Amino acid sequence: MKLKNERKRLIVFGKKMVAANLTNGTGGNLSYYNRKRNLIAITPSGVEYEDMRLEDILVLRLDGGIVEGDRKPSSETGFHLALYEKRPDVAAVVHTHSVYATTFACLHREIPPVHYLVGFCGKKVPLAEYATYGSNELAKNIRDSIKDYNAVLLANHGLVSVGSDLMTAFNVALEVEFVARVYYQAQNIGKPNLLSDQQMEEVIEKFKDYGPVKND
Ligand code: 13P
Ligand code: ZN
Repeated sequence: MKLKNERKRLIVFGKKMVAANLTNGTGGNLSYYNRKRNLIAITPSGVEYEDMRLEDILVLRLDGGIVEGDRKPSSETGFHLALYEKRPDVAAVVHTHSVYATTFACLHREIPPVHYLVGFCGKKVPLAEYATYGSNELAKNIRDSIKDYNAVLLANHGLVSVGSDLMTAFNVALEVEFVARVYYQAQNIGKPNLLSDQQMEEVIEKFKDYGPVKND
C-alpha cells in the first residue's frame, strides 16, 4: 500500500475536523502531497470520516491520474491539485464548511485583521468567487485568489486552508474559524477595531518562530 502513513494522518485529521466542528456529515476533504515521491493522498468522495479506512484513501499523481484506490476521489480533487501546482511551499490542503467562516463566505465578505490570529492566514482571509462545487471554475477561482495567503473563503460554500503539513493546514482552518466567530460577535455589539498593516506584519514575522523549541 502506497503512502500508508499519509493515509493514516488524513483519517486522523478528518476525525479531528468533525470533532472540532469544522464540518459535518461528509462535507469537506483533505489531502497530502508527498513531494519527494510525487504522489498525493486524498480522501474519497462522500464517505463519513468516522467510517474511513486506509483502503478508502486514494493515491493520485499531480495530473489527477489514480495510482491506487477503488473509491471515487473527492469531488474537489481539482482545487487540491491546483493548489499544489501553484504553491511549491504547500504539502497539505484542508477544506471545511465551518459555520462562522462560511457565514462570511455567504455574505461575500473577506475577514479583515480583527484579531491577531488572522495572521495564521495572512493580513486577512480573502474570498474566492462562487462557482459550483467540484467545478474547474471553482479550482480556477481559488487558484487566482490564494496568492501567498494560507486560506481562502469560498463564496456560498466554505473555506480551504493550506500548509506545509496537515497539522499546519488544520490549525489555519481552526484559527480562521475562531477569528470569524469573534468578528461576527464583535459586530453584533459594536464596530470592531482592526489591526493595522504594520501590526499584522509584526505578528506574521513573529509567527515564523512560534511554537516549542525544536531540538532537531
Ligand atoms: P467530497 O465528499 O466529494 O470530498 O465533497 C465534499 C465537499 O465539501 C464538496 O465541496
Ligand atoms: Zn465543500
